[in-house]
Amino acid sequence: MSPVSTLKTFEDIDCTFPKTLQEALELMADEKTRGVPLAGGTDLMVQWESGALPMPERVINVKSIPELREISEADNEVVIGGSVTHMELRQSSAVRRAVPSLAEAAATIGGFQIQIMGTLAGSVANASPAGDLAPSLLITDGTVTLAGVRGEREVKLTEFWKGYREIDRQPDELIVRFRLPRLPEGHYESWRKLGARKAQAISKVMGSSRGRMKDGVVSCFKVALGSIAPTAVRLYDVEQWIVGQPIHDETLKEAEQRVADAVKPIGDIRSTAEYRKWVSGRLVRLFLEELAARSG
Ligand SMILES: Cc1cc2nc3c(=O)[nH]c(=O)nc-3n(C[C@H](O)[C@H](O)[C@H](O)COP(=O)(O)OP(=O)(O)OC[C@H]3O[C@@H](n4cnc5c(N)ncnc54)[C@H](O)[C@@H]3O)c2cc1C
Repeated sequence: MSPVSTLKTFEDIDCTFPKTLQEALELMADEKTRGVPLAGGTDLMVQWESGALPMPERVINVKSIPELREISEADNEVVIGGSVTHMELRQSSAVRRAVPSLAEAAATIGGFQIQIMGTLAGSVANASPAGDLAPSLLITDGTVTLAGVRGEREVKLTEFWKGYREIDRQPDELIVRFRLPRLPEGHYESWRKLGARKAQAISKVMGSSRGRMKDGVVSCFKVALGSIAPTAVRLYDVEQWIVGQPIHDETLKEAEQRVADAVKPIGDIRSTAEYRKWVSGRLVRLFLEELAARSG
C-alpha cells in the first residue's frame, strides 16, 4: 500500500517523472520512494477530488515512459503499451486490424479530452465494472504483462480481474503491456455500448464478440459483456452452445434466452437489473446477426 496522509491539495503531492521503465520500477520497489502509479489521471484526479480515494503523498507518473507508449505488430498478435491512450487506440491501424472492437470501444470513451489523457492500463487497473475496454480485451484471450524489479510476469486477461475493483497486481508492480492475439482471417468482431445517451455516457451494458461461421454454422464464438457484474465476464456456456449451430430465428431466440438466464446484473442509478438482463440477451443476439450478415 502506498502511504497516505491528510494532505488536501494536488500541489502537495510529490510527483516523480521517471524517464525509463527501470527507473520507475526501482522507485516502486522501495517503500520509501514508492508512489501511486499515475497515467492520464482521469480516474485518479476525480477519485481524489471526491474523497473516494485518499490523496497519496507520492505519485509516479508513468504516462510518458517510452517502453509503455509503443504499439507493435508481431505475426499473430498486436502488442500495446500500458500508457497508450484511448485516442491512440482508436487511431492506430495496427489496433484496428488486430482487435477492431477495442479501437471502436476506445472511440466511445468520454470526449476527446478524456481520450487524449486516459490510457489502456489506467482503464484496466481502475477495474470499474463499467470500464469500456475490458470486453474487447477478454475476447482476445490475450495477456497483460506486469513488471517489478524482480522481473516480468504475464497474466491471462481472463484471470486478471479478481473482483470489484480488484486486479492481480502487487504493490511494486506496473502494468507494462498487453499482448492480444489478432483477429484471425475470416473472423469478425462486434462492439456495442448502451448508455443514457450516445456520447459521454457511462455504460448501462456493453460488450464485444469475436466469431466465425463456416459451412453455414458458427465455428467459433467468443463474447464478453461489461456493467452486468463486478467485473466484465465471458459467457463461456453460451459460446460453447452456439458452436455448430446455424444462425436463424430459433437459435437467435435461444441464444438471447440463454444469455438472459446466465447473467445476474444488479440495479443501480444507471439501470435496473431487469433491463440489463434483457439488453444483455439482445446484444448477443445482435452480435450473432452481425456475424451471419458479414459471413455472407
Ligand atoms: C469525464 C469522464 C468520462 C469518462 N468516460 C468514460 C467512458 O465513457 N468509458 C470508460 O470506460 N471510462 C470512462 N472514464 C474513465 C477513465 O477515463 C478511464 O478509466 C481511463 O482509461 C483511466 O486511464 P488513466 O490513464 O486516466 O488512469 P489514471 O487515472 O491515471 O489511473 C487509474 C488507475 O490505474 C492505475 N495505473 C495507471 N497506469 C498504471 C500502470 N502502468 N500500472 C499499474 N497501474 C496503473 C492508477 O494507479 C489508478 O489506480 C471517464 C472519466 C471521466 C473523468
